[in-house]
Amino acid sequence: MIPGLPPGPRPSRLPAVSVRFTILGSGSGGNCAYLEAGETRLLIDAGFSARQIRERLAGIGRAPEGLSGVLITHEHSDHIQGLGTLCAKTGIPVYTNRFTREAIERHCGARLDFRVFETGASFPVGDVEVQTFSVPHDAMDPVGFLLRTVAGNLGFLTDLGHVTRLVLERVRPAHVLVLEANHDLKLLQEDTRRPWITKQRILSRHGHLSNDAAAEVAVSLADGGVRRIYLGHLSRDCNRPELAHRAVTGRLTAIGATGIAVENTSQDRPSPTLEFQSDGPLGAVEAVPPSP
Ligand SMILES: [Zn+2]
Ligand SMILES: [Zn+2]
Repeated sequence: MIPGLPPGPRPSRLPAVSVRFTILGSGSGGNCAYLEAGETRLLIDAGFSARQIRERLAGIGRAPEGLSGVLITHEHSDHIQGLGTLCAKTGIPVYTNRFTREAIERHCGARLDFRVFETGASFPVGDVEVQTFSVPHDAMDPVGFLLRTVAGNLGFLTDLGHVTRLVLERVRPAHVLVLEANHDLKLLQEDTRRPWITKQRILSRHGHLSNDAAAEVAVSLADGGVRRIYLGHLSRDCNRPELAHRAVTGRLTAIGATGIAVENTSQDRPSPTLEFQSDGPLGAVEAVPPSP
């Protein structure tokens, strides 16, 4: 277990638990991640087609039928595109707050097994304790997650226009953080395809985090337990992976925080699977190639 880690839902005297985490894809056109802790298998958002999600899960030797649930951050289509098809057939529980549930029902029409939580609440799903918190974004009731496992904590912080003190407090225990780096300010301002009103929406306090804003978050959390940051939700047109990476690593290096791995994510392919153990040493957070 990572020293200093608050106890998770399973006592550490039980046999070692293996935690696996794969970002199946992340970008402004689709977001979906997979977390496995012991027997618990979760998706975080379902923003690709059901077929795509099934294929990407198959790439790591998993199938939707084995899922314990899907956690939903908010109802924008890049987070729920495949949800209805995926969960209506399989009966996988969908964890969401009330307003997001209502928006999903209007959108997809399918009857799903909703498990409704209050924003700000914490609840267990098997071996994972799910902590929810509100984020400022232009959706009905958007949330971020801190997922606590006995081997380490994972934070999800995408789709927010600015970072509040509450948000920073809630993700501070994360050892692994998925952090939005949506756009490069200059590329967004110079973009000729987006109308002014769309740019205003992205830049607003309920829009999306820029690379520089992501770097601010990384710096604010650098004195905590975070060991790996995945830069997610990159805009296809108004960002480039190297710009996002340079913005964040540059700021971290400037304050001497060189022990934090910063990884890019892709909309088109899954990230290498990260595996860590409940009895592993500090820094056991390491990437392994996806299973065949
Ligand atoms: Zn989004
Ligand atoms: Zn959104």
